[in-house]
Amino acid sequence: MKTIVIKGARILGGEPVDILVRDGVVAEIGQDLSGDETVDARGLIALPGLVDLHTHLREPGREDAETVETGTRAAALGGYTAVHAMANTDPVADTAGVVEQVWRLGQEAGHCDVRPVGAVTVGLEGERLAELGAMADSAARVRVFSDDGKCVSDAVLMRRALEYVKAFDGVVAQHAQEPRLTKDAQMNEGAVSGRLGLTGWPAVAEEAIIARDCLLAAHVGSRLHVCHLSTAGSVEIVRWAKSKGWDVTAEVTPHHLLLTDDLVEDSPVGSYNPIYKVNPPLRTRADVEALRAALADGTIDCVATDHAPHPLEDKETEWAAAAMGMIGLETALSVVQEAMVETGLLDWAGVAERMSHAPARIGRVADHGQPIEVGAPANITLYDAEARTEVDPAGYASKSRNTPYEGRSLPGRVVATFLRGRPTVLDGKLA
Ligand SMILES: [Zn+2]
Repeated sequence: MKTIVIKGARILGGEPVDILVRDGVVAEIGQDLSGDETVDARGLIALPGLVDLHTHLREPGREDAETVETGTRAAALGGYTAVHAMANTDPVADTAGVVEQVWRLGQEAGHCDVRPVGAVTVGLEGERLAELGAMADSAARVRVFSDDGKCVSDAVLMRRALEYVKAFDGVVAQHAQEPRLTKDAQMNEGAVSGRLGLTGWPAVAEEAIIARDCLLAAHVGSRLHVCHLSTAGSVEIVRWAKSKGWDVTAEVTPHHLLLTDDLVEDSPVGSYNPIYKVNPPLRTRADVEALRAALADGTIDCVATDHAPHPLEDKETEWAAAAMGMIGLETALSVVQEAMVETGLLDWAGVAERMSHAPARIGRVADHGQPIEVGAPANITLYDAEARTEVDPAGYASKSRNTPYEGRSLPGRVVATFLRGRPTVLDGKLA
């Protein structure tokens, strides 16, 4: 393999250095280094390759929305070197066979590493546990289990799943949504839903499940990860669980750090625009502020995209009929820059912790999420924080276009991504 020198990169925003990459690892960091190939990174920030704990790649079953190939292209363009593929595919990823299929498709695509998430229950039906052990032992080596899209609402099943995953150091990632409290729910329950006459989705439906699951995880001594926190109350519960020393981690999406439920009533794209329909729903400004503060102080461990592609016909319809979800891989770092860095809440080391180190740790992803230092795998993202980009999904690698940021100017641009020393993105384009 040829050696590559990344010239003049600012690791975590520090002083410019050259990074020599050989055989997929960082071989040397210093000044005036040379190699077979040179990448000019003057003025760019070098971050460890980003890791997503929560990506919907839609394959198998909904290849009209996304495939492993297109979704991982989008991931690489967003600066990601590893993503976790959620299990709510068709068929559901609830057997060793399906998770191995997704894992192999990721290997063949080669744009970033794909770690399949295994379903907790057969068919996501919440009735009996899936073959968690077989998925853990498979070639895909599943460590994260989730019925995401649906909540494991049965407390006995949740307890058994938490007990079961201890055997292989797994974690149950809960989509916290009490189903009876959110029947037919359309958006955050509050002043805006009242004015619009849409069925509300109360914060308590999320918070009650999180509280219950923290108690269950503590009771059986297992690991719980809470997906996409969206309310100030959820933050308080996770903070309390952590203060007890329980093994609870949590994520927040970029969109819940930036957008609020007012957009459903009044936005540049009108009212009732289903581009803002998402699960969990956009909440209030006070919730956004609480989520940002919690991500800054470490109560929330990481940012996860919940990249949820949908074809046009499932989104461009009336509000009540529209699918829930937003794409997010190609804008995540920019949104985090706007919400967290430009507000002074996080520096670039903090971004690296929350978008690379922490998610890799939680997902037990070997060889990702390590600091950029000699001997580490060369998973590196080069980012131009000074750039500004007008969001135009027409140019996105994702097969779907359902971004809530269309037409909006966002800071920053991913310039290059390296997966084990091999460029997957150069000059902002797939390499
Ligand atoms: Zn979810």
